[in-house]
Amino acid sequence: PAQAATLAARLVGDRAGDWDRAGRLPVDVVRALNTAGLLAPQIPTGYGGAGWSSLDSGEFTAQVGSLCSSLRSVMTSQAMAAWTIERLADRAQARSLLPRLAATDTAAVAFSEPQAGSDLSAMTTTVTMTGDTLRLDGHKVWVTAADHADLLLVFARLGDQGAVVVVPRATPGVRVHRRADPLGCRAAGHADVWFDAVRLPTSSLLGAGGQSLSLLVTTALSYGRMSVAWGCVGILRACLTAAVAHAGSRHQFGRPLAQHQLVARHLADLWAAEQVATRVCEHASRCWDTGSPEVVTATVLAKYVSAGHATRAAADAVQILASAGAVDGHPVARAYRDAKLMEIIEGSTEMCQLMLADHAVNRR
Ligand code: FAD
Repeated sequence: PAQAATLAARLVGDRAGDWDRAGRLPVDVVRALNTAGLLAPQIPTGYGGAGWSSLDSGEFTAQVGSLCSSLRSVMTSQAMAAWTIERLADRAQARSLLPRLAATDTAAVAFSEPQAGSDLSAMTTTVTMTGDTLRLDGHKVWVTAADHADLLLVFARLGDQGAVVVVPRATPGVRVHRRADPLGCRAAGHADVWFDAVRLPTSSLLGAGGQSLSLLVTTALSYGRMSVAWGCVGILRACLTAAVAHAGSRHQFGRPLAQHQLVARHLADLWAAEQVATRVCEHASRCWDTGSPEVVTATVLAKYVSAGHATRAAADAVQILASAGAVDGHPVARAYRDAKLMEIIEGSTEMCQLMLADHAVNRR
């Protein structure tokens, strides 16, 4: 992990603002992280991965998140795809796909549709089987990394059940249309994807197919939530660093900003937010690493707490820097836009609240 942190710092440097403005990550940066096995470091060593624990992977995700939320988003998609394959694929599929994701290929995960956002049971993308061929039809929206990914993991209906299909992006009938100018994570390659009578071998269906759609979605999202939660810890750390440096060096009314009590309160809130988010993510990762049954709730809690804190703390950081941070591409301006999106993806704040309330009322 220490070498990985050095590599990430070197690869990103101070270029994240430029990538954000350009709306693209350099291909060589994504490739370098992938070749080092760091786009999805939890892939088991038996499949050519780094075999990291959730805790180590989480700390690394936070570090990348503190440098560039777009690159962290691409990591989240890659690792969520790898986890979904690890959980659902048969042996032959896992042996063929996971070593590719551990080193060479990139992947995106497609759930959302124009009429199926928070309510994924409204999904209408279908997969049908005829002999040894599959046919995929549907339309997915806002898929992170779909603009450049080699493979798309597509959630679909198979009869009255659910299924996940692995689709090479270059397959005939797949049309990818880049999302222009998202609010944040602008370099993460968000795209809408159409599947028009896409023909694939039946081996593209993970496992035997035909499982409950909500179970399939929960499998992928539980990984995605953990990764986003740690990414928010990174946003918090970047905001804290920028705010402390500025408040210590900029003088107004004859003393550093940090010595004005109202500014000091913002700094206290920022530090507390970073500490709380770190602890709640560490707890969730320990649950993951020890196979605790608490993991599902702990992960929702981590995502809910970290995304909320990151959103509020990024606003505090912009407030502390004021005009110095009110510039497109500045780390706190970028954090302000990126953090808000963390309250929408992988189960919005409201969806997390419903799940936590259900836990409090029925299962505690
Ligand atoms: P809606 O579901 O229409 O919700 C609108 C608002 O209503 C939200 O605040 C929501 O919380 C609230 N709401 C909805 N239902 C309820 C309820 N029952 N009770 C209370 N409040 C409710 N999708 C993918 O498949 N793959 C990706 O990689 C991906 N990446 C994304 C990256 C970004 C930056 C963004 C913005 C989106 C991405 N998405 C992706 C889509 C994302 O998953 C959806 O935006 C998200 O699920 C919310 O759906 P929606 O936007 O349609 O909002």
